[in-house]
Amino acid sequence: LTFEEANLCQTLAKNIEKAGYSKLTPVQKYSIPIVLAGRDLMACAQTGSGKTAAFLLPILAHMMEDGVTASHFKELQEPECIIVAPTRELINQIFLEARKFAYGTCIRPVVIYGGTQTGHSIRQIVQGCNILCATPGRLMDIIGKEKIGLSKVRYLVLDEADRMLDMGFGPEMKKLISCPGMPPREQRQTLMFSATFPEEIQRLAGEFLKTEYLFVA
Ligand code: AMP
Repeated sequence: LTFEEANLCQTLAKNIEKAGYSKLTPVQKYSIPIVLAGRDLMACAQTGSGKTAAFLLPILAHMMEDGVTASHFKELQEPECIIVAPTRELINQIFLEARKFAYGTCIRPVVIYGGTQTGHSIRQIVQGCNILCATPGRLMDIIGKEKIGLSKVRYLVLDEADRMLDMGFGPEMKKLISCPGMPPREQRQTLMFSATFPEEIQRLAGEFLKTEYLFVA
């Protein structure tokens, strides 16, 4: 598979070219068609493998094709996509990639993480949010404050799921999928990335992903 064969829309293809990506990495080669086909995915992938673009590109391709509408200033934002990662550094990198690839569209990614003032996160969100990139604790805070509605979530990504468990975010992850308004797994696409695949992660995958999810290592 090449970027051309993946047949991503024009704006996205231009942004990929501008980023200097010419060849797909292995994780991108197997993930992009699966995600474009609307399937759930559990992928074993390390940092540096290109896993961020492996989930962002097909999600953005869908959002661009579906013509996601610009999200204006609103007290309650309803993002189409939520991406969760364990650390501030990682989630910020994901956000920066999302912003780069969404350039020239009305899709607005926002990043929020702990260790900053909640008021700052809220201000970012109410200005418009199609893709919310968040660390687990801050995400649950913001949902609790009713700044984010979950009913429009079509994509849920859990990155470095094993590290989130190691850091004690298991309860937050479970709370997230059982939050009022969160579409059930049949009505959303869920993607999990993890460097390792211990039993606990297998159990989470069984809970979060559709029963016919694909596993790739
Ligand atoms: P990640 O594993 O997602 O953290 O990506 C590692 C680094 O590789 C990041 O700096 C990406 O911008 C870069 N990258 C991802 N995919 C590609 C690609 N297909 N070609 C060139 N660089 C890439």
